[in-house]
Amino acid sequence: MKNDKNILKETLKEFVPILTFFSLILGFGGLIEFSANGLTKKYAKGNLQDIMFEQEISLFGSGIKHFGVPSLDFEYNIKDMRAGCYEPQEDKIVLNLLLSKNTPGWDIGSDEGKLYADLQDDGARGVIAHELGHYYCDKLSEKIFHQDGGVFGTGLNRRIISEGIAEYFEHSVTGKPNKFKESDWPKSRKQLNRMYKLGIGKNNFIYNGGHMVVKPLIDKYGKKAIEYMIYEPLRDNELLNYKAYQQRIEKMINSSIKENRARSKI
Ligand SMILES: [Zn+2]
Repeated sequence: MKNDKNILKETLKEFVPILTFFSLILGFGGLIEFSANGLTKKYAKGNLQDIMFEQEISLFGSGIKHFGVPSLDFEYNIKDMRAGCYEPQEDKIVLNLLLSKNTPGWDIGSDEGKLYADLQDDGARGVIAHELGHYYCDKLSEKIFHQDGGVFGTGLNRRIISEGIAEYFEHSVTGKPNKFKESDWPKSRKQLNRMYKLGIGKNNFIYNGGHMVVKPLIDKYGKKAIEYMIYEPLRDNELLNYKAYQQRIEKMINSSIKENRARSKI
């Protein structure tokens, strides 16, 4: 699931009065209705397969290739801060037509008397590319482990890996730099708890921190790295020591490569 970053919360605060204003004008008399025919919907339908193809080209040589095509759905969700989400049971990407993580991409207006606030191309492209990362993990998990959902496990340990891989897929087509540094990783339980209680830097940690953890592994081992990571998320003792996690995964991959080589010699 893609929860938007803090910047979006700020933007939402600005957006609510605008929305109210539009609602009052356009929806006078309690006839407020949102249009579902805005730009995001058109863009997503017209570009989903191109984005998937671009990802495969960008990740060429990694062994990563999409399994089929997910379905698309759209929602107007003002309560939840997410710009999009992925539903593994239905292999479905859901885009929120009210929110975007790239706020300059917003397009607010009216269409036949209905209000819309959509993501324009750049915003939608990033969100779709991200959700495709969740889709890939889910399909890989279905194929190997006969289980929906992608990354195994629970809580933060799972989310860091799950969102990190999804960010990897997003970056593969947007090319946006990850500004998260090694020194940004929490160094103590106390720091981690504080981050959670106050919510400051939490999403940056999960999404960009997660990307920092998974990137060298996927860069080096491609699909193989994802196969191991979806089954083996961070352990509790690795939450403050992501390098131990990277080493553990790398060791597992290397020992399986050695085992396969030995087997092929028999
Ligand atoms: Zn996500």
